[in-house]
Amino acid sequence: MPFLFGPVPSRRLGLSLGVDLVKPKTCTFDCIYCEVGRTTVKTIDALPQPDMGSLFDELSNTLSRSRPDVITLAGSGEPTLCPEIGEIIKGIKAMTDIPVVVLTNGSLFWKDEVVNGCLGADIIMPTLSSTFEETFRRIHRPYASLSLERVLAGLTRLRSAYSGRIFLELMMLGGINDSAREIEGLSDAIKRIEPDRIQINTVVRPPAEPDALAVKPERLREIREHLGPGAEIIAGVSVPPGSSFRDSPGEKIIETLNRRPITLMDLAGLTGLPYEETDALVRGLLFKGLIEKREFNGEIFFTGKGYVKE
Ligand code: SF4
Repeated sequence: MPFLFGPVPSRRLGLSLGVDLVKPKTCTFDCIYCEVGRTTVKTIDALPQPDMGSLFDELSNTLSRSRPDVITLAGSGEPTLCPEIGEIIKGIKAMTDIPVVVLTNGSLFWKDEVVNGCLGADIIMPTLSSTFEETFRRIHRPYASLSLERVLAGLTRLRSAYSGRIFLELMMLGGINDSAREIEGLSDAIKRIEPDRIQINTVVRPPAEPDALAVKPERLREIREHLGPGAEIIAGVSVPPGSSFRDSPGEKIIETLNRRPITLMDLAGLTGLPYEETDALVRGLLFKGLIEKREFNGEIFFTGKGYVKE
C-alpha cells in the first residue's frame, strides 16, 4: 500500500495530501465510531520504522505534480505510533513550505518522544470525547493500560510544550456523550487544554459498531452554544469540489475508498467531475468488482476492496 493518498478536499483543512504512517488497522483505540473499521492491532508501543526512502520519493513525486493546502499525517490508524514522526515532519519541512498537520486521537502525549516528535507540526488535531472513564472506555475501547487520566494529562502537557495551533475535535455520539453532564466535563477539560479551535463532530459515515449513533443537528447547535465562540460544528459540512482527480480518476477513487466509505455525492465533490461522470465511473468500478457499496442511515456509501471494516 502506498504512503500517500489524495490530495482530497477536507472539511477542516482544504485540499489535503494524506500521509499514512501505520498499516491498517493499527491503533491505540478501537473506537465504536471508527470509519476505518475495527482495530486489528491494538498497541501503545512504537511500531517498526517505515521505509523513509520510499515515503520521501513518493512525496517528492506527488508534490512535483500537485500543490495541496496541507500535508496531513493521518490515515488508517494512529500516526503518533510511528517512532519516526519527528524525522518525517522535519523531512517534509525541508522539502516544502506546505503546512504539516498531525491528525491524532491524542492518546499518547503523556510520552515525551511523542510530544517532541510532533513539535515541528503546524497544526495538531487531537480528539476528545469524554472526561468520564466509563464513557471514554465505552467509546474508544482503548489499549488496556491507557487511562483517561493519562490521556488528559498528555493533552494538557502538549499545550504547554507546543507553540503551534491545536484544533481539538469533540466526537459526539447520540445517547452516549451528549448529556449535559458530559458537555460540562468537556467544557472543563477544554479550559485546561486551551485549544485554538474546538471542532464538534458526530458520526457521518458507516461506523465500526451499530450503537455509534449520530447526534441530531439541533443538539449539536446547543453544544456549540454552550462551549462558546471558539467552537464550530464540522459534522455535515460538505467538502468543497476539487480537481485533484483529473489524472486517473478511477484509480484515485479506489485509493480514497480504500481508506474510508464515501457517498456518491461526496465523491462527485472530491473528483471535481460532473455528478453523471462520477456516477458512471463508480458503476464501472462496481461492475469490475473493484469497489463495494453499503447502506448507513438510509444513505448509500461506497468502499474499496482494501477497506478493512470487518
Ligand atoms: S477513529 Fe481513529 S482513534 Fe479511533 S480507532 Fe479509528 S483510527 Fe483509531
